[in-house]
Amino acid sequence: MGSMSRRDLLRGLATGAVLAGVATLQPEPARAADGPPISESDPAAKAVKYVEDAKQAKGAAPGSTCANCALYQGKEGARTGLCQIFPGKSVVAAGWCASWAPQI
Ligand code: SF4
Repeated sequence: MGSMSRRDLLRGLATGAVLAGVATLQPEPARAADGPPISESDPAAKAVKYVEDAKQAKGAAPGSTCANCALYQGKEGARTGLCQIFPGKSVVAAGWCASWAPQI
């Protein structure tokens, strides 16, 4: 009996360690000026089919990425930047979403 509960405890600890490992696999924190990166699984991101890699986007016009979107606010050459449709959150310059709009 005692060994069973000890095994359960160890299993619980192992699960916790796995979850902690997943947590540390998150992308590196964006610089404060950018705000935290929006996740592709965020409901707001899903609503506009946001992806971090425009090449994976279905329906993206060839060559369209966040970096050349009218709603992107990142600096030229930066890996990430703020996007007007995700207030306070950053997007990947190489990403894309269905709200992509050409710069005028
Ligand atoms: Fe990227 Fe533009 Fe969509 Fe924002 S609106 S996520 S900058 S494509």
